[in-house]
Amino acid sequence: AASGINEKYAVYSQEIDPYNQRRISLLGELRNAIDKDVLQLYFQPQICLDTMEVSGAEVLIRWIHPEYGFIPPDEFIPLAERTGVIQPLTYWICRKAFQFMHSLSSQGYNLNLSINISARNLQDPHFKDQVCKIAKEQDVTLEKVIMELTETAVMHNPDEALRVLGELSAAGIRLSIDDFGTGYSSLSYLKKLPVNEIKIDRSFVMEMAKNNDDQVIVHTTLTMGHNLSLEVVAEGIEDEATLLKLKEMGCDLAQGYHIARPMPANEFFTWLSNYRND
Ligand code: C2E
Ligand code: CA
Ligand code: CA
Ligand code: CA
Repeated sequence: AASGINEKYAVYSQEIDPYNQRRISLLGELRNAIDKDVLQLYFQPQICLDTMEVSGAEVLIRWIHPEYGFIPPDEFIPLAERTGVIQPLTYWICRKAFQFMHSLSSQGYNLNLSINISARNLQDPHFKDQVCKIAKEQDVTLEKVIMELTETAVMHNPDEALRVLGELSAAGIRLSIDDFGTGYSSLSYLKKLPVNEIKIDRSFVMEMAKNNDDQVIVHTTLTMGHNLSLEVVAEGIEDEATLLKLKEMGCDLAQGYHIARPMPANEFFTWLSNYRND
């Protein structure tokens, strides 16, 4: 019996260890990865369903590791959040994103840019000032900037969130609730916080053309959002049927692989100039 336990332990530690090692090594490397070419920003278009015009893009980070290859943000963002690296990382993301925004507007594109923000960023007392400073350095205004936060991030410390989000909003930044419908919080924050947009989680969107329950959830969210004067975005649109259904339901904005995958800045420009020209 004793050897059975040992065997179990051996199997367990063998299975867990490679991941732990990778995690520990990633942790150490993340800080150094900032400002190197290994971290890159990708941009995924959003379109206005009414006009079918491109309205903006979401900024999504990529880490191409020399040894491990592509590391998904779902793996390293939580690490960055736990260690506090998320703060310099988010400033780096803002700087790069604003640079991109500047080149967009110098080529005549007036698009919104959505940036993902963590709960930890709201704990930084200088967050608003830093973001304003970076925007000034890159010569962009904040009216076209949207910050995406999850319900969980907002409810982590509601009073703090209220203060920081109030400051960001006063600076002209718009706020979006990401992964809407997946948190366990009450909806009361929607009337307390300066929210402009909700983003229906892709788990409700991906199969809604086939799944009636998903359609009911999307429809109800749309009605509530519009009654609260919020813009509603659907993410995770993977086929034409879903796109048409959302258009028919009156959803404002759409994002998903069916429209375009996230892409690096140069490809984004090519995509933009070909959009609806073909
Ligand atoms: P998210 O904010 O919910 O981002 C949307 C995710 O859905 C992205 O995954 C995107 O590539 C993916 N996606 C887009 N269209 C489709 C589709 O049609 N079908 C499916 N199945 N997926 C689609 P990604 O880029 O792997 O990012 C994962 C998460 O990592 C993000 O979820 C966000 O929470 C976090 N993240 C990414 N970039 C950043 C960042 O710059 N800062 C922070 N704080 N978090 C980030
Ligand atoms: Ca997002
Ligand atoms: Ca999302
Ligand atoms: Ca997410």
